[in-house]
Amino acid sequence: MRLILLGPPGAGKGTQAKMLKEKFNIPQISTGDILRKAVSNGTELGEKAEAYMGDGGLVPDEVVVDLIKEKIKEDECARGFILDGFPRTIVQAQKLGETLEAMKLKIDAVIDIEVDPEELIVRLTGRRSCSDCGAMFHDETRPPEQAGVCDHCGHKLFQRTDDNKETILKRLAVYENETAPLKDYYRKQGNLKTLVGRGSVDEIFSQVLALVT
Ligand code: AMP
Repeated sequence: MRLILLGPPGAGKGTQAKMLKEKFNIPQISTGDILRKAVSNGTELGEKAEAYMGDGGLVPDEVVVDLIKEKIKEDECARGFILDGFPRTIVQAQKLGETLEAMKLKIDAVIDIEVDPEELIVRLTGRRSCSDCGAMFHDETRPPEQAGVCDHCGHKLFQRTDDNKETILKRLAVYENETAPLKDYYRKQGNLKTLVGRGSVDEIFSQVLALVT
């Protein structure tokens, strides 16, 4: 199964992608996670991406496209994959389409998770992630049992540097201008499936499953 998770920052793409990964035993490919790791490891990729990410803008298309092209050719992606945070522009979607066509593969579904912008700001400003297992918490709606510590693995929680109000507003604007047009792009291809990201994580996951199975 080859899926794309589409939706603004804070819609819950990462959370749903992790659940899909467990359920179908296929890799989650999060360009945001790959880029953040590259930045923290100080690699060449990280150096290229850091300034754009800190500012809430998009990393240039060619950088992420090259990364994804390599990734989806890896053996672990042979049975499928979940793209989380890619594509984010029409150019990225076109390049992905060309790459898959050359591999004689296609995307099965594009899941678009819709959430109101006011709700996204609340979610993102309070968001905390585990530095080790990636589990997500929220200061108000999903606090960990012990402040700053992951309930699952005991590692430290951190706040993303781009989860501050100013950068969040920029990221939401970038989403509207650059990424939201992908909804039409995939609707025309006939594989866009939209759901409203309201309710518990499990309720949303049931909706996602109903759309892909
Ligand atoms: P995310 O974790 O998906 O919110 O991504 C964090 C940041 O990484 C974004 O604000 C962008 O700067 C960068 N990024 C992630 N995915 C992409 C992509 N497909 N194209 C361009 N930039 C990206």
